[in-house]
Amino acid sequence: MDHIDVPAEQVVPMETIVEGVQGLRITFVNVFSIRHASGGWTLVDAGVPMSESAIRSWAKREFHEGPRAIVLTHGHFDHVSAARGLAEEWNVPIYAHELEFPYLTGQKEYPAPNSGAGGGLMSLLSPIYPRKPLDLGDRLRPLTELEGWEIVHTPGHTPGHVSLFRPSDRTLLAGDAFCTTKPESFFEAAVAQQPELHGPPSYFTSDWEAARRSLQRLAELHPSVVAPGHGKPLSGPAVAPGLAQLALHFNEIAVPENRKVGAVS
Ligand SMILES: [Zn+2]
Ligand SMILES: [Zn+2]
Repeated sequence: MDHIDVPAEQVVPMETIVEGVQGLRITFVNVFSIRHASGGWTLVDAGVPMSESAIRSWAKREFHEGPRAIVLTHGHFDHVSAARGLAEEWNVPIYAHELEFPYLTGQKEYPAPNSGAGGGLMSLLSPIYPRKPLDLGDRLRPLTELEGWEIVHTPGHTPGHVSLFRPSDRTLLAGDAFCTTKPESFFEAAVAQQPELHGPPSYFTSDWEAARRSLQRLAELHPSVVAPGHGKPLSGPAVAPGLAQLALHFNEIAVPENRKVGAVS
C-alpha cells in the first residue's frame, strides 16, 4: 500500500474550494488565493518557472488587483518561481518561515534529491530539477502572522516548511506536507486522478521523521477541507481519518524503500 483512498465525491473544485479560498493548477502544482475579512487577498505559493503570466492573469480576472503579499509554504522551485517577478510588479513583500531563508536568499542549496525514491517519472527526473537557491532579496520577510489563519510549522519535507490552517472552518493549505495524488508520478497521474492521500514528494523530502511528526500534527487539527500543493482539494468525512491513518502508517506508506528505518543506502 502506498496511499490512503478517498471517495471520489470528496473532491472539491479548485475554483471554489471554500469561502474565500481559490486554487489554480499550473502544470503539476497548485497556487492558492485567500481573501481576508478586512479586505484584500494573499497569494500562497508561486508555481514552476514560466508561471508568472498565468498567475498574473488569474489574479486580474478574479481580484482585479494584486495581493497584499505572497506567502511561500517552502522554497522548492515548483512553489516559488514566479514570486520575485510578481512581487516586483505588485510591489508586495514575500513571506516565508525563517528556517527557509537560506534557500531563498541565495545562501544554500537544497540537499540532492533522492532519485532512487521510485514510483515514477518525477523521481527519475529529479536530478535535473533546479536546486539553485533563489534570491528574493529585500522582498523576503519572516512569516509570523496571517490574518484569519494559523501558521503551522511542518518541517521534514524542508526545514522551514509551513502549512496554513484556518480555524473558523478547519481549512488546511498543506503545501508539500502531503499530497492528494501520487507525488512521484504527477504527470502520469494527471490523466486520471483518483483522490488518494500520499506522503510528501519523496525525491525532495530531507527528514522523514520530522515529516511524520508534522503530518501527525496536521491530522490532529482535524481539518475538514485540505488543499495541498499537488493534487486536488478534498472535503468530507474521509479526509481527517485518512490523514490520521497516513500518519500512523507513515513509514510503510510514505517513506521510500531506500529511506525506511533500517534501509541500507
Ligand atoms: Zn516541495
Ligand atoms: Zn512541490
